[in-house]
Amino acid sequence: MASPLAGIARLAHAAPLLQQKRAAEYFQLPSYQLLNRCTSSRMPFEWTINPYRGCEFGCKYCYARYTHEFMELREPEEFERKIFAKQWNRANFGTQLRKIDPADRIAIGTATDPYQPAEPTR
Ligand code: SF4
Repeated sequence: MASPLAGIARLAHAAPLLQQKRAAEYFQLPSYQLLNRCTSSRMPFEWTINPYRGCEFGCKYCYARYTHEFMELREPEEFERKIFAKQWNRANFGTQLRKIDPADRIAIGTATDPYQPAEPTR
């Protein structure tokens, strides 16, 4: 029987566990591109990178919480307990970077914090 989930929800439910730390689990989420175009003229940048979905910091006021619902994760605490790290591919990322205007600005972490506690501190 085919999975009833589609798109990002299907990918999220099939994601392998990367790390379990305290109450949070980190999963690897397939990602076809890390750079996303920002077309809003009100923003002072042209591109964004959001390496994670979810955030272990778990601020109660976080405006990004609803985005976990796109992955059919609807329990309130899942936002800070199930963190999805987008798959990194150096070659693909380099190709993407070479295609954009060198004068363009890239904002990192416009949706959730890009420096999660699981990041190495070497
Ligand atoms: S993304 Fe920012 S506001 Fe949201 S939980 Fe993380 S640190 Fe808090």
